[in-house]
Amino acid sequence: MMIPVNEPVLSGNESKYLAECISTGWISSEGPFVRRLEEGMATVAGQRFGVAVMNGSAALEVALAALRIGPGDEVILPAFTIISCAAAIVRAGAIPVVVDSDPLTWNLDPTKLGPVITPRTKAIMVVHIYGLPVDMDPVVQIARDHGLKIIEDSAEQIGQVYQSRSGKRRMIGSFGDVSTFSFYPNKHVTTGEGGMVLTSDEVLAERCRALRNLCFGRERRFVHEELGWNFRMSNLQAAVGVAQMEVLDRTIKKKRLIGAWYNEFLEGVKEVELPESRTSYAENIYWVYGIVLKDQVPFDAEEAMNRLAGAGIGTRPFFWPMHEQPVLTRMGFFRDVSCPVAERLARRGFYLPSGIALTREQAEQSSTAVRALFK
Ligand SMILES: *Cc1c(COP(=O)(O)O)cnc(C)c1O
Repeated sequence: MMIPVNEPVLSGNESKYLAECISTGWISSEGPFVRRLEEGMATVAGQRFGVAVMNGSAALEVALAALRIGPGDEVILPAFTIISCAAAIVRAGAIPVVVDSDPLTWNLDPTKLGPVITPRTKAIMVVHIYGLPVDMDPVVQIARDHGLKIIEDSAEQIGQVYQSRSGKRRMIGSFGDVSTFSFYPNKHVTTGEGGMVLTSDEVLAERCRALRNLCFGRERRFVHEELGWNFRMSNLQAAVGVAQMEVLDRTIKKKRLIGAWYNEFLEGVKEVELPESRTSYAENIYWVYGIVLKDQVPFDAEEAMNRLAGAGIGTRPFFWPMHEQPVLTRMGFFRDVSCPVAERLARRGFYLPSGIALTREQAEQSSTAVRALFK
């Protein structure tokens, strides 16, 4: 039996709320769970308004359109992220500009933002990667100094907290002019497929609602001033999400417990870099437990993952950097760009089974298999 890299747990009120959708007939996006999920997420992430959409990638597209980012604009994003981020920027007609990662947190390195800002820069898309958030204080300062918007992709760190240098604790997702989330089954809250856009700006929230719903006309419904999408979330999906939100605290506790198990079982393995358990501004939430093969190891992540699969351990490779994506370089983006940290992470890093169904025994078994790689 393979230990899966992720397995969702749906043991709360999911069935009950779904049955409620069926028995009341509320199955479309008009149903009451959608609003409940929007309000719940806004509360968790410290924003005023939530706009539920059909997935996290769609949320990013809505965010850019809401901020009116388009042709001629540049948007800064981490090289080390998921394609959804760059795809949304490119589809908006804007230019993606990458910055390299911090080697310890694997997140966008704020000290690398300055040199890539130009008069055409409109926004910074920050992405909180795996378990530790981006160091937001300097990012917020730079955005303020240069009049840039912040789009905060918080898909991987629902419920994470940032400790500001001012002493203030702020929820991840509260920094963005617009923040986005995903509810894919490996995320802290799942709806099967789903996403959310959050903002505290009433006008932006209204724009996001319109963009998600085909920008129907105000005066006359079928007369459109702008093109939107049908990115609506159904009440069925939101019902699952509301049940998931009820156990979010437990989910996060379990993620941190899994992180602690791996830290214990992998302690002293000198061939791998383990994730930092904390920084000066946050505690690792271990959305996934990633490890990086040190340079002295004579094989790369791909071989390690193949050997682990042979031992019945499910893994996933780290992200592949945006400036090395064939589809994007063919379009002419990222000429002469290099991001050595992201390039190394992509080749040396992968993550271990990290879903909240994981048992201590499975974490031990996975760790034993990792140790065996170096025997
Ligand atoms: C999962 C994820 C997304 C995409 O979400 P989908 O719901 O799969 O479209 C976007 N950004 C980050 C950082 C993610 O982890």
